[in-house]
Amino acid sequence: MEELSAKELRDKIAARQISSLEATEAVFKRIDKLEPVIGAYISTYHDLALEKAADVDRRIAAGQSVGQLAGVPVALKDNMCTTFGATTCASRILENFHAPYNATVVEKLLAADAVIVGKANMDEFAMGSSTENSGLKQTINPWDASRVPGGSSGGSCAAVAGRLCFAALGSDTGGSIRQPASFCGVVGLKPTYGCVSRYGLVAYGSSLDQIGPITQTVTDSALMMNVIAGHDPADSTSVDENISPVFDYLEKLYEPLDKLTIAIVPQFAAGADRQVQKAITEAIDVYKKLGAEIIEVNMPHLDYAIAAYYLIATAEASSNLARYDGVHYGHRSEKAEDYIEVYSKSRAEAFGKEVKRRIMLGTYALSSGYYDAYYLKALKVRNLIRADFTGVFEKCDCIMMPVSPTTAFKIGEKVDDPLTMYLSDIYTIAANLAGIPGISVPCGFDDNNLPIGLQILAPAFGEDKLLRIARMFENQTDWHKRKAPDIS
Ligand code: GLN
Repeated sequence: MEELSAKELRDKIAARQISSLEATEAVFKRIDKLEPVIGAYISTYHDLALEKAADVDRRIAAGQSVGQLAGVPVALKDNMCTTFGATTCASRILENFHAPYNATVVEKLLAADAVIVGKANMDEFAMGSSTENSGLKQTINPWDASRVPGGSSGGSCAAVAGRLCFAALGSDTGGSIRQPASFCGVVGLKPTYGCVSRYGLVAYGSSLDQIGPITQTVTDSALMMNVIAGHDPADSTSVDENISPVFDYLEKLYEPLDKLTIAIVPQFAAGADRQVQKAITEAIDVYKKLGAEIIEVNMPHLDYAIAAYYLIATAEASSNLARYDGVHYGHRSEKAEDYIEVYSKSRAEAFGKEVKRRIMLGTYALSSGYYDAYYLKALKVRNLIRADFTGVFEKCDCIMMPVSPTTAFKIGEKVDDPLTMYLSDIYTIAANLAGIPGISVPCGFDDNNLPIGLQILAPAFGEDKLLRIARMFENQTDWHKRKAPDIS
């Protein structure tokens, strides 16, 4: 049963060939067996999940209508607020934080009758590219236990790759859905900024953060988008449906696409490892055979994406994380003698090293005298990058490039070298700066049998087309069908 995609499972549950209870129990059996090694989850909700599954089965048996994800076991990244359990952001500062409300995406999943099995590990406050910055636990890559799952949504991606759920939600500020999806051999979609509500998503870089689906197939990604996309009055940055209509992404998936023009950025992509480059070239050849036209473009400002991103993201983070003061939320130091110490000691004790580094970087970039030189300059570069994309999208339907310059690296390999870690985000960050959607689809394996992802980027609110383009590839290849071995 674990070999089924989310949509296949949903259809079988609806047809009463499998019950949601059976599917959910099967997932928990795998969790019992594999989770001690994989470490994908910060918390799981066995009783709650079985209760929901039984309710869905009951309603289906009674012929009542059910939602689009009826009975399907799913996972959430632990930076999405839930009224059940804790919402930790994998930080000791929020270890015992219980949110008073559900994030909009959680409400939507529940309304769609999904069965939430657990909340997944991540880099603390989503800062990182390997999940090694989690303050609570370690997650391994289901393809190779000595390697990282990528990050920051490493737990969500490892859970999907390890079949410890049928689909998951992650968040992507600079690549955190696409990069771990690529490392774990699953499909990860970062929607357009404003496409999915961020209400109840713990903020990292508010102008960059976006929630998106992590799934085994492109079809499942479309199914998840059907549930989570759309305007939310509680999030003023979520886009009005009069401006950007929400589609039935599943239905659109099967519309034919002809005269596809794909842009590639040869100079930029040349920075990737040889084996990654080869897999990407072969993937593009698949499109060529289907009749796509490939054009080469130059995007001169992409080289500055990392520098701009690590100023903007840290600046926003330093402001967003000021709320963890030992008073409003989370951990409070017992050693504080006065209110200044409550603030400084609580933060010093409970934030991890990387989070502190980012708060310091961001505070510096925003401080008087440096604001113009760093933060404002970074915003200008952001505009140039956005303009690069606008120019290129006048000539093509999508852009293709690697997701990451390498496949999954070894645990510990980059932890002491934050700059090298930051550089691994080179291909994913620009999409967040420009606000456009991007997807990672499995497109091959390296000599170590580690998955490689193809990244496809599309114009803002072009998710329907992006998913169709990705599905074309999936139809022609079977990379997505290869499953990680059961690691023990
Ligand atoms: N690796 C990037 C960072 O550390 C992106 C993280 C993310 O997308 N949340 O900021």
